[in-house]
Amino acid sequence: LLSIKRLAKSFDDLEVLKDINMDIEKGTVVTIMGPSGSGKTTLLRCLNALEEPTNGVFSFDDGFTLDFQHKINKNDLLTLRRKSGMVFQSYNLFPHKTAIENVTEGPIIVQRRSKEEVYEQANNLLKKVGLEDKKDLYPHQLSGGQQQRVGIARALAIEPDLLLFDEPTSALDPELVGDVLSVIKDLANEGWTIVIVTHEVQFAQQVSDQVIFMDGGYIVEQGPPEKVLQNPSENRTQQFLQRIL
Ligand code: ATP
Repeated sequence: LLSIKRLAKSFDDLEVLKDINMDIEKGTVVTIMGPSGSGKTTLLRCLNALEEPTNGVFSFDDGFTLDFQHKINKNDLLTLRRKSGMVFQSYNLFPHKTAIENVTEGPIIVQRRSKEEVYEQANNLLKKVGLEDKKDLYPHQLSGGQQQRVGIARALAIEPDLLLFDEPTSALDPELVGDVLSVIKDLANEGWTIVIVTHEVQFAQQVSDQVIFMDGGYIVEQGPPEKVLQNPSENRTQQFLQRIL
């Protein structure tokens, strides 16, 4: 679906991503792991055009290509943004909109689709994430796990090619983590293409086709979970896994 070559990102003098090369195959789950500050969130934000890379080339399999060596025009950045839906660590729901309004906002305002169709879809999506009876509640009336499931429905509503999850369960109480992970597992089984940053090793083991381990802005190791998680070849990966397991 997407091939990334030589992606680099700096904030002023701070080089946060260095020579990132990765392929995201359609219908697969790519899990990104690594210590705090290694650049995982910045990588996701680059994929979603929330940050503009300093260098690198994105090539999508539909022929859309961006070379960040050159200044990218606004339309191309918008095209990039609309290819993916992002689910944030802290949900980022609109506080003054109900669950269903949070889901319908993007399709109606940004994609200008018909209200009727969008509401029908939103009802189905909220049902899918187990929230059909909560659709008229506001975020503050929902638990963290429920808010995150609204966040997932919102990302699905724009029908993106790529779903991005940035530590979707790390703000949740432990007993709410399972529900959210199970929704993500269902999406993986349905064939969505997913890139997820998570520290949930067991979950990563179960759902990932590819695990990427990052440290210091570099990809240290990448491959299938049996390799990277169970039999890592790099010291830094081994040490990290020992710390979090
Ligand atoms: P965590 O697991 O703690 O979320 P991470 O691996 O996701 O960490 P990033 O959030 O991508 O790491 O941050 C990587 C580095 O980039 C950090 O040193 C961070 O301080 C820096 N950084 C991130 N965003 C900005 C920004 N907007 N301006 C300046 N520096 C930034």
